[in-house]
Amino acid sequence: MSGSQDELRQRWKAACKAMRKGVRVDLAEFAELRCGAKTRAGTPCKRRDLFASGRCRMHGGMSTGPKSGPRAKIVQPAPPEEPYNPADNPELMRLINAQLEHCTL
Ligand SMILES: [Zn+2]
Repeated sequence: MSGSQDELRQRWKAACKAMRKGVRVDLAEFAELRCGAKTRAGTPCKRRDLFASGRCRMHGGMSTGPKSGPRAKIVQPAPPEEPYNPADNPELMRLINAQLEHCTL
């Protein structure tokens, strides 16, 4: 992995951050930026469809962020939904009761 790619990746991350804030960024300088992750073949990944992390979708580009550590607390899991109670649904209860009437067991 070459040093200039690493440097370019750092600038790419900064550019992505700026773009999220609505800053227009000239992306021309990133034309040569490759994913650069080590593939299973041992060669650097040459993909150029990079995410904000500076990696392609195969190599961590889709990561949703840290799973532990101080920054992990920012994203909280959604609260569980209310348990479903068929009794709250009169139409469904009517159908169930109609079925039970035919039940011979
Ligand atoms: Zn890659």
